[in-house]
Amino acid sequence: MTIQVYHDHSEVSDEEFNKLKELVNEGTFSRIVLACDFITGVNVENASYGAGVCAERAALTRAVSQGQRKFRVIAIAADTEKPIVPCGICRQFIREFSENIALFLFNQDSEYIKVYLKDLLPLSFGPESLGIEVE
Ligand SMILES: [Zn+2]
Repeated sequence: MTIQVYHDHSEVSDEEFNKLKELVNEGTFSRIVLACDFITGVNVENASYGAGVCAERAALTRAVSQGQRKFRVIAIAADTEKPIVPCGICRQFIREFSENIALFLFNQDSEYIKVYLKDLLPLSFGPESLGIEVE
């Protein structure tokens, strides 16, 4: 299976994208996630590895605790040569809020690719699967 990769940022304005890149460049942690209103999160590691929380879930949890539930895009930055994708748990966590959100994946040089969640998590399980309507 081939995943379609994009290089545009049509979901956000140029101004929003520049702000997003600015925040990515300011990051001092290995991962930053930006969702609505540029809410960030970082990996929260734990001596008991299984108790750690990925940056994606940290940012989304932070946003939800601030009353946000609708996200236009998510950016994930890593200090790696190639951009990284969210882990399986985070893909499912993100899916709760959108079946097909755009993910901007940045590498250490602030180069990015864009992919869609639907391509990373096909035939996904979400609130609709339980008969819960999502706006
Ligand atoms: Zn994760």
